[in-house]
Amino acid sequence: MATKFSKCMMLCCIKKVPVTKEEDMGKESYEEAIAGLSKLLSEKSDLEGVAAAKIKQITAELEVAGSKKFDPVEKIKTGFLHFKTEKYEKDTDLYGKLAKGQSPKFMVFACSDSRVCPSHILNFQPGEAFMVRNIANMVPPYDQKKYSGAGAAIEYAVLHLKVEHIVVIGHSCCGGIKGLMTIPDDGTTASDFIEEWVKICSSAKSKVKTECTDISFEEQCKNCEKEAVNVSLGNLLTYPFVRESVVKNTLSLKGAHYDFVHGKFELWDLDFNITPAVAV
Ligand SMILES: [Zn+2]
Repeated sequence: MATKFSKCMMLCCIKKVPVTKEEDMGKESYEEAIAGLSKLLSEKSDLEGVAAAKIKQITAELEVAGSKKFDPVEKIKTGFLHFKTEKYEKDTDLYGKLAKGQSPKFMVFACSDSRVCPSHILNFQPGEAFMVRNIANMVPPYDQKKYSGAGAAIEYAVLHLKVEHIVVIGHSCCGGIKGLMTIPDDGTTASDFIEEWVKICSSAKSKVKTECTDISFEEQCKNCEKEAVNVSLGNLLTYPFVRESVVKNTLSLKGAHYDFVHGKFELWDLDFNITPAVAV
């Protein structure tokens, strides 16, 4: 069987079948295994009883494995225990310091998407980045009533924590941006909150729809993921305390895009797009 399996692997390589196709591989191996067993039993029928018992045992084991349900409490308990023994208890200096306060240098806006956790992809340690995560990593404009949640976070980060950099990170295959790009031109919405929220970056959508007419919808979305970051950077400047800190040079605003399909990360500074005053 081992030889057959090797041959199968070689064929896969020659055919350039992605090795991630585990299901296909499993099916093939399973069929080979059954064929091998049938051949053996046709030659040695006295083994039928033993084979039947073994098959019953495997079936019972697979039934147990298949019925194992995901246990969220167990997942959380195991996760915390891992963190506590592997990190918390091993770095008493860091956690002792953090118990007294925080002074992160970064404030980060990232999407709520489970694949784009900034601590994970940028290796931020506890205490390094003050974070806001929302649908499509958007920074709404200054509005005390409508967007007090985002405003409170920005105010706290800039005025109290005195962060030195605000980074807005967009990402590939962003569902929020796709949602924004598919809102009908008449503005009708089908969701309670999502479309209303992503409309914060409507001007990014308009720019892409106007300037990128000869590319596919997917490419337009990718462009919009980056343009929306620029709109958010612009919106940051509608907060007086952000503007003031930027002018004083104590705060920098940066845009970024994380492409998890190709494993790429782009980073850029806010382009103020300041044009010289025109003499009249
Ligand atoms: Zn997203």
